[in-house]
Amino acid sequence: MKNTEKLAIHGGEPIRDTYLPYGKQWIDEKDIQAVVDILKSDYLTTGPTISQFERKIAKFVDAKYAVTFANGTAALHGACFAACIQENDEVITTPLTFVASANCILYQGGKPVFADIDPNTYNISPQSVRTLITEKTKAIIPVDFTGQPADLDEIVTIAKENNLVVIEDAAHALGATYKSSRVGSISDMTMFSFHPVKHITTGEGGVITTNNEHYYEKLIQFKSHGITRNSSKLTENQGSWYYEMQFLGYNYRMTDIQAALGLSQLNRLKRFIEVRKEYVEMYNNAFQHITGITIPFQSGERNSSWHLYIIRLNLERLSVGRKDIFEAMMKENIGVNVHYIPVHFQPYYKTMGYRRGTCPNAEKLYEEIITLPLYPAMTVYDVKDVIRAVQKVFSFYTK
Ligand SMILES: *Cc1c(COP(=O)(O)O)cnc(C)c1O
Repeated sequence: MKNTEKLAIHGGEPIRDTYLPYGKQWIDEKDIQAVVDILKSDYLTTGPTISQFERKIAKFVDAKYAVTFANGTAALHGACFAACIQENDEVITTPLTFVASANCILYQGGKPVFADIDPNTYNISPQSVRTLITEKTKAIIPVDFTGQPADLDEIVTIAKENNLVVIEDAAHALGATYKSSRVGSISDMTMFSFHPVKHITTGEGGVITTNNEHYYEKLIQFKSHGITRNSSKLTENQGSWYYEMQFLGYNYRMTDIQAALGLSQLNRLKRFIEVRKEYVEMYNNAFQHITGITIPFQSGERNSSWHLYIIRLNLERLSVGRKDIFEAMMKENIGVNVHYIPVHFQPYYKTMGYRRGTCPNAEKLYEEIITLPLYPAMTVYDVKDVIRAVQKVFSFYTK
């Protein structure tokens, strides 16, 4: 049965008068006060709030160490450095991710190798990883896509068998668990991002968590020009002013202003995730019987922290493609998005010789996905608006 309500794209009334973005931060008065307190203190950067934030993150994810960075991409660069990725090394990752997951390999002169995804979870396929391992492979960068952990047991096993480092891109997965472990305690190094659309924010910001002391020390030095003052590491000691730059690092430090915001946000992380889960339930209940939609699949042993809610279009049941559905949703004032354009489709990657057709599952999925708004600062009424807009648009375009 067709819904007779006229779509906004055809000149009808939109579901909402105001635009609802797909993701957004939630800053409260306590967050603001925490930042103001730092502005009035002695340390705006490299002060005590950074280590406080690092300790709290490490504790939250059950890891020994946490090293903050200016952003998640810088943190991934640090992890590739610590893993000794260098020229001619190959690193296997997924194409269904933000470009940063692969760019960090290029920063070190390495070569990204794209494995295909599992068509159910949309995460990197361990079978595909196995087929791509060569003598040059040094690391694997799985991404916990949408907040659902990748198949970490399989990936860690493959890594052990082949002497590879696992750098987990958990930008979507702060607070997720895999079997009985917390994401952040499983891989050799795990990255979280604090960009405003992620689970908690520091404006820009990122962190690597690890249980490995050697990686920890390299990361600390890397994010501060390659400089150390640690007397046990100096090659000589000319006096108490003395420091050494022992390799080429960067200034990738987070400020105390950012760390204060992060600490304050961490207090609400559990609640943030609960709200995301409540909204996911509402979406699942509303969409599971719409024939044009496949709702996200969740594996029982992985507890997602739900960064993104992605619907997959069953195109054979629809009279139009993804683009028309996308534009119709936007006209209803619902901020939809697409996560992600496969990395190997990007012009820069094309110039390096990457070609379409190498990851058929990821490439097919890309044509069929739409991300709906999901974040804790949304109200239940916002969620209901999204549901009504989806029902309106899909009832019009369902064959
Ligand atoms: C956000 C994100 C990053 C990069 O994080 P920034 O903090 O924005 O640099 C990397 N990978 C994935 C999958 C992301 O979503």
